[in-house]
Amino acid sequence: MRSSKIEAIVIKRRNFSEKDRVLTLFSRDRGKIEVIAKGSRRPGSRFSYFSDIGSVGQFYLYQSKSMPIVTDYKAIFSPEGARGEFGKTNKLGFAFKLIDKLFESGEPHAKTYEILRLATENISDNESQLVFLTFLGNVISDLGLKPELHQCIVCRKKIDDGGGLVFSSEGGLSHADCAIENNQKKISRDEIKLLRLIFDMPYNKISQARVNSKVFKKTYRLILYYLEWNFGKILPEEVL
Ligand SMILES: [Zn+2]
Repeated sequence: MRSSKIEAIVIKRRNFSEKDRVLTLFSRDRGKIEVIAKGSRRPGSRFSYFSDIGSVGQFYLYQSKSMPIVTDYKAIFSPEGARGEFGKTNKLGFAFKLIDKLFESGEPHAKTYEILRLATENISDNESQLVFLTFLGNVISDLGLKPELHQCIVCRKKIDDGGGLVFSSEGGLSHADCAIENNQKKISRDEIKLLRLIFDMPYNKISQARVNSKVFKKTYRLILYYLEWNFGKILPEEVL
């Protein structure tokens, strides 16, 4: 089949020739894929508007000898609300960078796609911090690194309400007394609750939850710490 149609988000773009661009798409069914948008660097071209980072739509592709060529496009969402707003474009930029860096081309990740799409629309329009955090949590789970949040990773006993607990980059929660390595952080009950919410709740229910901002910030830093330990530094220190 030389012609196909995919639903995707534009996560990166680069100039290819005087008139054309190469877009990196993250698609629902085919994962990460590079395509050529011919003429998209010409102002006023009908292909210029969808080559914005964060555009979501149906891409009609023709498989050429090298890269697929975009032959048509139907918009689903365009990130107008983020335009000119540094905080929002920054956050979207990091979400896309994370996907680009951590996922291989041609491997579908349908659930991550759905959450990325939700996060793109959410960040652009009304901004629930929890959705972005949930997105990060989902990327971690999708890569097979979901942290253990219900039993101690050392003694394997259930995490109950007594005693101090720590969060370890080795894979999740442990009793403070069990921990032997240095790479762990103190964690409070509220932060554990929020981590469980992010990792265990269906993502479409999460945006309605309310969270104390101090707990949010500390939990965010735990997630960053965990991401960084596993993948190196990708996101900045500050809370996005
Ligand atoms: Zn233990």
